[in-house]
Amino acid sequence: MSEEKSLNFIEDIIETDLKEGKYKSILTRFPPEPNGYLHIGHAKAICLNFGLSLKYGGKTNLRFDDTNPITEETAYVESIKEDIRWLGFSWANELYTSDYFDILYNYAVNLINKGLAYVDDSTAEEIAAMKGTPTEAGKDNKYRSRTIKENLILFANMKGGIYKDGEKVLRAKIDMAHTNMLMRDPIIYRIKHAYHHRSGNAWCIYPMYDFAHGQSDSIENITHSICTLEFIPHRELYDWFIEKLNIFTSHQYEFARLNMTYTVMSKRKLLQLVTEGYVNGWDDPRMPTISAFRRKGYTPKSIRTFCDKIGIAKRENFIDLSLLEFCLREDLNQKALRVMAVLDPVKLIITNYEEGKTEELLCENGPDETFGKRSLSFGKELWVEREDFMEEPEKKWFRLAPGSMVRLKSAYIVKCESFVKDVTGKVTAINCSYIPESRSGKDTSGINVKGTIHWVSASHALNAEVRLYDRLFTTENPLDEKGDFKNTINSDSLQIITHAVVESSLKDATVDARYQFIRKGYFCLDTDARLDKLIFNRTVTLKDAWAKEVKKIRLT
Ligand code: ATP
Ligand code: MG
Repeated sequence: MSEEKSLNFIEDIIETDLKEGKYKSILTRFPPEPNGYLHIGHAKAICLNFGLSLKYGGKTNLRFDDTNPITEETAYVESIKEDIRWLGFSWANELYTSDYFDILYNYAVNLINKGLAYVDDSTAEEIAAMKGTPTEAGKDNKYRSRTIKENLILFANMKGGIYKDGEKVLRAKIDMAHTNMLMRDPIIYRIKHAYHHRSGNAWCIYPMYDFAHGQSDSIENITHSICTLEFIPHRELYDWFIEKLNIFTSHQYEFARLNMTYTVMSKRKLLQLVTEGYVNGWDDPRMPTISAFRRKGYTPKSIRTFCDKIGIAKRENFIDLSLLEFCLREDLNQKALRVMAVLDPVKLIITNYEEGKTEELLCENGPDETFGKRSLSFGKELWVEREDFMEEPEKKWFRLAPGSMVRLKSAYIVKCESFVKDVTGKVTAINCSYIPESRSGKDTSGINVKGTIHWVSASHALNAEVRLYDRLFTTENPLDEKGDFKNTINSDSLQIITHAVVESSLKDATVDARYQFIRKGYFCLDTDARLDKLIFNRTVTLKDAWAKEVKKIRLT
């Protein structure tokens, strides 16, 4: 975070707390439920929590909020840890709410002993019916007046596995007429005979979120517990439990969740895309998960910068995906190696170049001299981009056309003499002559040309598959659509080019490296690539093609 930036409201609170000596140092936490892969919204919460502790010399715990045995898996735990590390953060302690099951159980017993909790035999429907509405008070039921002794026995029986799922619940005894519906005797424990990914079959009762979260914060001595706006009504309950149990006082603060255009951001919905085969797994580069962004070639820095730029708000809003892409281009522009690749190749033959001759030309590796140079083979036959040739050029066409001259990047100026078509009218070869005195860096030809195009030597080229991705949804907010959000899936979100050619230096490409295919965009090696098969993902285009599209649509 840059120093000159004004403080966000959470930083304001922290600075005041530290100044007033409320805490010696701060402790935040990131509390994912291990029921899916992390998405870009989680990245915002991660950057916020870890960012605050870094800024103020505190610490951040990673706590897996694993109170729901049905949906949680150890594989998700591993992916979450990998994603946080990749973003560049390290946690002080790796903790699990399930490790607190004994303590939480004792807290519940403590409440029963204080006459602040009771076992309720009602069905879920009966409980809902007695709860009232926002304008109408709820009603006490007959179980509410059970004695402490009776409640202690019944709760112990719940734990002992005597009852079936749903037969009984433990509720906090607060106020059935409370203006905050969540305070109307919330359920704090439910029976669930299910195997838990860590505690196995040790428990058949599990605490509800509201009874687990604040208490876990308190057990860990979390000073600032930051969550998203939908938890505002829960804060009263959070504070009530801490007060009644008389335990360490953690405080909850809420910020607006990140919503982004052209995507959905809920693990449950993302899971549907995976299980119903709309994408090829959680890390399919079209997904908004952190693992997908990583596979697609995003850098941790671009995501951190993005989270910093969007800041912390108290009101819900939508952030345009193009802002993230902007941060990405800024970072890749400084980091990516410059290489040449031709995605839609057509032969260019230099008629006056010696048959069988190869020259080694020096090429800049990156955006500045610090990246050094590499040698690139040049010969009589090259591949160039089909779209760089026009049989009948439009106005201001500076690329290949009959009679025109262009520079081949880092090589020579060529003049297009003729071209060959097959029976279908497709151009199969472009014949050019070259100007030997025009070699880049040693040009004595005195000829100025306006266009420069990229190329790959045909006898040195490597074949590659290139995957181009587009937005997964066609509408800005897929959830707004009537019916299923999956109805707005963009059927053209993946385009696979099987016959691209790339320069030979890419035989050593690694998954961690970032490349700019000159004039074509930023690319990275995909994890599907094999020794005998190069596969590249387009990370992002050089310019924002959608912004233009949107403008066009709005103008018409
Ligand atoms: P999902 O609905 O995608 O499952 P969640 O909020 O249930 O999201 P958790 O694993 O419970 O997911 O979230 C862990 C932390 O990440 C929470 O503190 C939550 O508030 C935060 N978080 C989740 N989604 C977003 C988002 N879109 N923007 C900011 N923070 C988020
Ligand atoms: Mg959740």
